[in-house]
Amino acid sequence: CGIVGYAGSAAAGTTTRPSEVVLGGLSRLEYRGYDSAGIARCGEGEIELFKASGKIQNLREKLAGHEASASNVAIGHTRWATHGTPSDVNSHPHLGGKHGEIALVHNGIIENFASLKKELFEAGYEFVSDTDSEVVAHLLAREYENAETLTEAMRACVAHLEGAFTLLAIHKDDPETIVAVRRNSPLVVGLGEGENFLGSDVAAFVDHTKSAVEIGQDQIVTVTANNVDVIGFDGTPVAEPKQYTIEWDAAS
Ligand code: GLU
Repeated sequence: CGIVGYAGSAAAGTTTRPSEVVLGGLSRLEYRGYDSAGIARCGEGEIELFKASGKIQNLREKLAGHEASASNVAIGHTRWATHGTPSDVNSHPHLGGKHGEIALVHNGIIENFASLKKELFEAGYEFVSDTDSEVVAHLLAREYENAETLTEAMRACVAHLEGAFTLLAIHKDDPETIVAVRRNSPLVVGLGEGENFLGSDVAAFVDHTKSAVEIGQDQIVTVTANNVDVIGFDGTPVAEPKQYTIEWDAAS
């Protein structure tokens, strides 16, 4: 339903900033409605996951005392369940890989998740949720085995997907990077100073920047604190992604 991502650097703020920005963005997206919420970050060599069904306040309580982050990236999600009941395990982010090395959030529906799930289950991937989204997390992990980067793995991953999706993913071995894609579902990037933002809509980061980049249909964006690289699903670089200034009424 709602998606937020943050990629910063120590210079851009404190170690609690990734969590604060993502929680703040999720609160901004509450107006869309949701049944659960969650956040993932890269910790010391592992993914850290916080999820809670119900209000964002429940997620805040789970995070209390753990706001400081070892890495400068975080991704978050508010879920509106389509596959699997609203619950802690079905809420996003979902872990992917045989050692939980990837975390992924998804807006939308993966139409062909059942056949992919069967294939991945037979290849030894273990499923803990009833969602269509967890399938993508494992599929991305499988593609990562044969890829040089998370971006390349994502490009291979989306080639298998049917349906509508905005996806954000992080990998424990690349704690400075978020890779995101979209098809039939929105995705925008917010440009900051020594930090960048991602959102399913600009409300996710409008408190921090008014400068945005629109990600087009069937495009992949790789975001770090200082870089935003956009390519098409076919691998072609998008030379001049559409940049614009957000018009925002401060009262809203
Ligand atoms: N289909 C996914 C699920 O049910 C994502 C729903 C959403 O867009 O929030 O978990």
